[in-house]
Amino acid sequence: MATWRSPFLRRTLLLSPPPPPFLQFSPFSTPILHSQFKRSFVQCSSLSMEESTSSTPIQPEIPETGRNSRWKPMCLYYTQGKCTKMDDALHLEKFCHSCSVELGESVSGLKNLQKQEFDYFLVLDLEGKVEILEFPVLLFDVKTMDVVDAFHRFVRPTKMSEKRINEYIEGKYGSFGVDRVWHDTAINFEEVIEQFEIWLRKECDGHIKLWREGGDGRLNGAAFVTCGNWDLKTKVPQQCEVSGIKLPPYFMEWINLKDIFLNFYNRRAPGMLSMMRELGIPPLGSHHLGIDDSKNIARVLRHLLTDGALLQITARRAQASPDRVRFLLQNRIK
Ligand SMILES: [Zn+2]
Repeated sequence: MATWRSPFLRRTLLLSPPPPPFLQFSPFSTPILHSQFKRSFVQCSSLSMEESTSSTPIQPEIPETGRNSRWKPMCLYYTQGKCTKMDDALHLEKFCHSCSVELGESVSGLKNLQKQEFDYFLVLDLEGKVEILEFPVLLFDVKTMDVVDAFHRFVRPTKMSEKRINEYIEGKYGSFGVDRVWHDTAINFEEVIEQFEIWLRKECDGHIKLWREGGDGRLNGAAFVTCGNWDLKTKVPQQCEVSGIKLPPYFMEWINLKDIFLNFYNRRAPGMLSMMRELGIPPLGSHHLGIDDSKNIARVLRHLLTDGALLQITARRAQASPDRVRFLLQNRIK
């Protein structure tokens, strides 16, 4: 567990002075901190960077409001802490190196904001039917209404032959042009969880940690947000069983955004794209590339928050028998 250290952590330790504590470890940050990052970047990985292997859009470039004037595909080495081209202007021009889904207006100008129970939301959108292939989590800060950090890993199946993995990845990620980056970076699910827990234990805003081991094991001031119940009700427990690990305690409850949407707007939207359609938000990136879908879900989340929705836990496992999931809202998408 202690053996993995983010290349960003390593870099920051080497190149003081450090930015504020939480963001200093982050592959994503506000534009200002991001430019600090670019200036001080040193090569942190021996992986080669193939431009053609970053995410390619199926959507035309659609401008978002305000400062997000031109959409670019994410650099998928960068999202995993492994981009070696941070000093290459052409590369930076071509690929996005920030996870922000920022608003075009200041948060203080928004009238309908509710006081939320949580300070942070962890937007999670897994990919992979047989085994998990991608594990993207975006850290959404309720104060700034933006994504301030991310944890993203491609996941290598454990119970599949090499031949089947290759076919599977070519079929799924080949169509987005990101199969090469998948092969370059994918690690086993157990390792992903170890690295994720290091990420969760980082300092945030100088003092908050999203999770501490011990106690009831729940997140601290944060909740997972998913689009549906499948990710945390079905897929993570299944993958834990396949990988021979215990279900981590922070996966015991979550917010299904579709249920929040239904209860707040009183309209049924059975999927991410239908929620976006209902809200008039154009989807960006490649649908079913987990990191792009997570960003789109974060944009739906931001829309709900700015319209005044209260985000509460919608599903919780019973402590005594974790197989039992209780759904907490009466109206829900089944
Ligand atoms: Zn890059």
